[in-house]
Amino acid sequence: MMLLKSLRSSGSFRSVLLLRFAGSVRNASKFDYDLVVLGGGSGGLACAKEAVEYGARVLCLDYVKPTPAGTKWGVGGTCVNVGCIPKKLMHQASLLGEAVHEAVAYGWNVNDRDIKPDWKKLVKVVQNHIKSVNWVTRVDLRDKKVEYVNSIGSFVNPHTIKYKTKQGELKQLTAQYVVIAVGGRPRYPPIKGAIELGITSDDIFSYEKEPGRTLVVGAGYVGLECACFLKGLGYDPTVMVRSIVLRGFDRQMSEFLAAMMTERGIHFLNTTIPMGVERTPEGKLLVQYRNTTTQTDGSDVFDTVLWAIGRKGLIEDLNLGAAGVQTYNDKVIVDHTEATSVPHIFAVGDIIYGRPELTPVAILSGRLLARRLFAGSTQLMDYTDVATTVFTPLEYSCVGMSEEMAIERLGADNIEVFHGYYKPTEFFIPQKSFRHCYLKAVAEVSGDQKILGLHYIGPVAGEVIQGFAAALKSGLTVKTLLNTVGIHPTTAEEFTRLSITKRSGVDPTPASCCS
Ligand code: FAD
Repeated sequence: MMLLKSLRSSGSFRSVLLLRFAGSVRNASKFDYDLVVLGGGSGGLACAKEAVEYGARVLCLDYVKPTPAGTKWGVGGTCVNVGCIPKKLMHQASLLGEAVHEAVAYGWNVNDRDIKPDWKKLVKVVQNHIKSVNWVTRVDLRDKKVEYVNSIGSFVNPHTIKYKTKQGELKQLTAQYVVIAVGGRPRYPPIKGAIELGITSDDIFSYEKEPGRTLVVGAGYVGLECACFLKGLGYDPTVMVRSIVLRGFDRQMSEFLAAMMTERGIHFLNTTIPMGVERTPEGKLLVQYRNTTTQTDGSDVFDTVLWAIGRKGLIEDLNLGAAGVQTYNDKVIVDHTEATSVPHIFAVGDIIYGRPELTPVAILSGRLLARRLFAGSTQLMDYTDVATTVFTPLEYSCVGMSEEMAIERLGADNIEVFHGYYKPTEFFIPQKSFRHCYLKAVAEVSGDQKILGLHYIGPVAGEVIQGFAAALKSGLTVKTLLNTVGIHPTTAEEFTRLSITKRSGVDPTPASCCS
């Protein structure tokens, strides 16, 4: 008891849980495994690794089907192999190209006219990094004694999973608990040539050919991010938008982002849908499309067509009917404890219906679930106020409510929006455009004005918003924000100087960087 107390006071929560529950799990189980995790991505691995810490016997099945273009990858799921990580590296590569030109303005002796990216080299270094992460993941699983099988798992009945070994042998095992963490894959449109001739984000980060003139179909964050790093690397992207950019995000900020991209030379085909793709005799891709506003048809020729029209949940191989797990479209329905319609079967990550599709969400919900299953914890995942970032050259990051959501929930009269443009000090010398450097706080109108949402477009937006996200979750008010002394000269400090409300109609443009 003394030991438990001192561990608790030293903050070692995990050690406390470990002492309490290690061993007790092992003794109780009549199944082959205490936990089988289907899917070895962000959520599945986090859950599996946490569960073994508390003495659970865990097996994780993970398998990646190659894309139609033949791309395949190792363990770790979307984020590591074809998502956050390669995307951030390509984003960084693209920002560095911009930085070289800025360096010249700052006095560096660089012949910036000859600066060109080497696509093949970039792909190689990105892929080498991913392979090293794959290797570390495998070693980590082995060290932690999570059994890992590279195979597709599917239900035989609610407690039994089957899979095929590499040798083709069919195996079955039983589990007390099953966690479904199979994530999703990009959709292809049901049009001629889409699958045969197009690629997706699953292919671009290992694409051997230079992408060249690229049509990115879809204006969600994946589409915008891909278009932006391609532009930064010197290619010529066009974004085809069916209805609006960044559905689900704050409208004003989304439109700002699209305007920033247009200013940088990225073309948009608005209210347009693709009708078909075919290969020309010269080996290019001829895309037919229709503008749904004007009802006119058009076509253009591209080197690459990248579909970024959304993702579908990978439930097709799970045989969920045999387990009785309820789904909606291609997602699994869960309650507030991540339990499916079958009490001992859970789901975490992108496969859950109606929850944010983000790596940290998948990881934390997987970990918390393992603690509840094997360590007596009662802590639930809090899906509210999850911060996120769109990695465009000026990044957009936000946490909490959009202006529209705040108006819908509280009414326009009950919210106050503080906003401002700002001029990053470092933009002056290279004469970078700060037309779209803008931020706003959506707050309650009364009292200390609790902040409901923070939005920022500018450099390193994710780094800026991460800390404010913790403050917002702790009940940040406008009063506290304006009473916080800024760190000068940063762009994050602009949040501490937000004094102009939209309602006032005062021009929120500052005269200089420090006014
Ligand atoms: P996944 O990571 O997709 O893992 C699921 C695994 O299960 C896969 O390996 C899959 O092949 C396997 N599997 C499927 N069916 C079976 C089966 N029956 N049996 C065995 N295995 C199976 N998130 C962020 O937070 N920040 C970002 O910047 C970001 N950028 C992204 C950029 C792109 C281009 C994309 C596509 C996604 C990005 N995401 C980002 C989202 C993030 O990658 C996902 O939210 C996260 O990977 C979801 O994790 P998961 O565990 O639910 O699924």
